Amino acid sequence: MEKKNIDWGNIGFGYMEADYRYVSYYKDGKWDDGALVTDPNITLNECACVFQYAQTVFEGLKAYTTEDGHIVCFRPDLNASRMVDSAKRLVMPPFPEDRFIDAVKQVVKANAAWVPPFGSGATLYIRPYLMGINSVIGVKPADEYMFRILVTPVGPYFKGGAKPITIKVSDYDRAAPHGTGDIKAGLNYAMSLRPIMKAHEEGFAENMYLDAASRTKVEETGGANFIFITKDGTLVTPKSDSILPSITRRSIMVVAEKYLGMKVEHREVYFDELKDFAECGLCGTAAVISPVGKINDHGKEICFPAGMEEMGPYTKKLYDTLTGIQMGKIEAPEGWICTIE
Ligand SMILES: *Cc1c(COP(=O)(O)O)cnc(C)c1O
Repeated sequence: MEKKNIDWGNIGFGYMEADYRYVSYYKDGKWDDGALVTDPNITLNECACVFQYAQTVFEGLKAYTTEDGHIVCFRPDLNASRMVDSAKRLVMPPFPEDRFIDAVKQVVKANAAWVPPFGSGATLYIRPYLMGINSVIGVKPADEYMFRILVTPVGPYFKGGAKPITIKVSDYDRAAPHGTGDIKAGLNYAMSLRPIMKAHEEGFAENMYLDAASRTKVEETGGANFIFITKDGTLVTPKSDSILPSITRRSIMVVAEKYLGMKVEHREVYFDELKDFAECGLCGTAAVISPVGKINDHGKEICFPAGMEEMGPYTKKLYDTLTGIQMGKIEAPEGWICTIE
């Protein structure tokens, strides 16, 4: 497949219009067969539930070109099942998990020319999303839905490559209330727009959100979970019902234990403990593993000694092993790699 003429090594995390997208409609209680289409635009009624009441959820995963030239994606079954959980929380009909995986394969295959080459540092970002599309004005869920997948090639999420970022402790809540913190939904991102703009204005790359009830425990950032490394090399990652169960974080926990022989703790993490950790990172499909050098708590700095100038040694090992597995350089655990082509 002839690749598109793109300077793959220099693209940022932005949207480019690829050739095909996948679409399926839900009406009269069932999903239609779905199809690939070329039109990137959507026309909906002005009163569609998605516009008025934000009834929409999404997912995010990536396709990679391996060293031997295959196109693969990473654990799409977990995205499929997480989208079912997100859909149920917003009273939407889940898109069947087997069909989700099949649709991802179809749309990536059709856009193979947009999958960045091995070693370029770029990947193909895959964005499935689901929304209520018929008109509602009284508050209730829609009864017609659209499931779509768009793809776009992307580079690194944080500018400046592997240089550790500085983040701030936010005074805002990340997620909408009423227990939606653990679903992947635009409504939580709408909540995060003001805090992220404020953080950027103040010169910080991201926000650290604390638990809304007591503001004593670490939750996550706007779109990535935290990992911490203790001085004796234990991976610690926050456990909370109000953070998104990151597939990257769950995979890193396995990599740490099974590939690197590290001790792993998934537990509540108190803000007061942060000063004792040696390394800190953000993990997610978009962020991969991005090192955090400093956390600014209302002017007071918490510094991570092993990861101020560059990625700390444990974070680096986790990064190399995880991306090695994703790019087909290191043997993956059973079922983690889905070969598309
Ligand atoms: C998508 C997302 C993450 C990262 O999850 P991955 O499955 O690793 O991509 C973390 N936090 C939030 C709020 C997210 O939306």
